[in-house]
Amino acid sequence: MTSANDPAFRAALEGLELVDHPALLRQKSRDFYWYSPILKRELDGKAAELIVVPRSVDEVVRTSASCARFGVPLVVRGGATGNYGQMVPLEGGVLLDMARLDRTLSIDAGRGRFEAGVRLGDADAQAQQHGWELRMFPSTRRQATVGGYVCGGAAGVGSIRYGQLRDSGVVSALKVVTCESEPRVVELRGPDIGKALHAYGTTGIVVEVELALAPSYPWVEMVAAFDDFATAAHFAQALGESDGIFLKLVSLMAWPLPSYFRGLDGALPEGRHVVMIMVAAANALAVRDLASERGGAITLERPYAEQAGQVPIYEYTWNHTTLQALKVDKTVTYLQTLFPLGANVEALVDSHEMFGEEVMAHAEFQRRQGRTNCSSLQVVRYRSDERLREIVRGLETLGIRLSNPHSYILEDKGARVLSADLQLAFKREADPQGLLNPGKMSRWTAA
Ligand SMILES: Cc1cc2nc3c(=O)[nH]c(=O)nc-3n(C[C@H](O)[C@H](O)[C@H](O)COP(=O)(O)OP(=O)(O)OC[C@H]3O[C@@H](n4cnc5c(N)ncnc54)[C@H](O)[C@@H]3O)c2cc1C
Repeated sequence: MTSANDPAFRAALEGLELVDHPALLRQKSRDFYWYSPILKRELDGKAAELIVVPRSVDEVVRTSASCARFGVPLVVRGGATGNYGQMVPLEGGVLLDMARLDRTLSIDAGRGRFEAGVRLGDADAQAQQHGWELRMFPSTRRQATVGGYVCGGAAGVGSIRYGQLRDSGVVSALKVVTCESEPRVVELRGPDIGKALHAYGTTGIVVEVELALAPSYPWVEMVAAFDDFATAAHFAQALGESDGIFLKLVSLMAWPLPSYFRGLDGALPEGRHVVMIMVAAANALAVRDLASERGGAITLERPYAEQAGQVPIYEYTWNHTTLQALKVDKTVTYLQTLFPLGANVEALVDSHEMFGEEVMAHAEFQRRQGRTNCSSLQVVRYRSDERLREIVRGLETLGIRLSNPHSYILEDKGARVLSADLQLAFKREADPQGLLNPGKMSRWTAA
């Protein structure tokens, strides 16, 4: 592969916005991989040689064509909130920063079309002006981009009602630029969306995303506290299964996880396990009733609003839970796991009993295959790589499967990668030299 410092390559990019200050190259080439002591060892110091900031699809095409003609690697950067070094360039080259492709193109009849660099918070706010909202967003709503979410994310706030990003109907279309000397601009729809969805930008550069939207609701944030973990877990499941209660978020955290959280004074009683909830305002009373029936106490109830000085409750959930813990204790790390459908609560309670406070239970309830299930981002008191592997083996005996957050390899995410064959075949035609995010797709590397 050719270096992005090659003078002829630089000349080919003349007129584009380029950044090559070493401090910026280092800073912009990082995501949140440092959650993992293993990835930190592997990825610290890796950086692009040049950042290109395109302002239009034509400029993306020009950059991609130049990379293909000169053989320079190209990695796309959205908001850089990935957790596994997905956007960390392993082989130098160009980092394509999508920040200026930030136009909302249309919001109409329950669909929104956005350039890939639009931040999810802006996309959501734009949709709300038309009576719609995003069906789901990651807890990084404020920083992450639409393109980064569909290329690197999986689910999030809203998944308790609308399922996973990969569920048919959630993403309606992707416009993708290939990495060839004469790049093509391809519109992917239907099953073809899988060619680029959750592919870490290894199969194409996503320049536009069309998403199905949901009707906008006024939401209420609530916290329910319980003395006993099993009772809290059964409440969370029962709430998720209550079809009449319109939910956006159901997150369960075992004590002592809440002891790491700042900014929710009074809502997190000492020693209690909590369920964090976002519910349509009209159903807040129904949540109160269910919590009281199940022995819980509501310790917080307030309208959801994005406003200065107030941390939205979702920023304690999903992978913000680990971040909140890391702010207080730099020695913790995490796991990411999937639970057996129909037996998830039992597995959750058993895992809590198996490891106690060493593996702090945290579950995100969501719809999977039409049923209420959970996945987990357990916060772990890290001792060694070997102990981490032992914990994983222990969880596996309970039917809990790892979606390995300590690897940057696409295929190590288990069930998330549904379209591996489709993606490999598409990469052969869209990126024949293997220049897009090299080293992340193990099937390609092996081939
Ligand atoms: C605190 C925290 C909380 C999180 N919560 C969630 C959550 O609730 N749900 C969830 O699913 N994830 C979550 N994540 C992971 C991450 O935020 C999401 O995956 C997010 O959507 C990534 O968006 P981004 O714009 O930051 O993408 P980036 O990190 O910039 O990129 C992600 C991947 O996509 C590629 N990429 C980015 N843009 C494009 C493009 N336009 N074309 C092609 N490839 C592209 C990158 O090369 C990289 O491989 C969380 C992470 C953190 C740190």
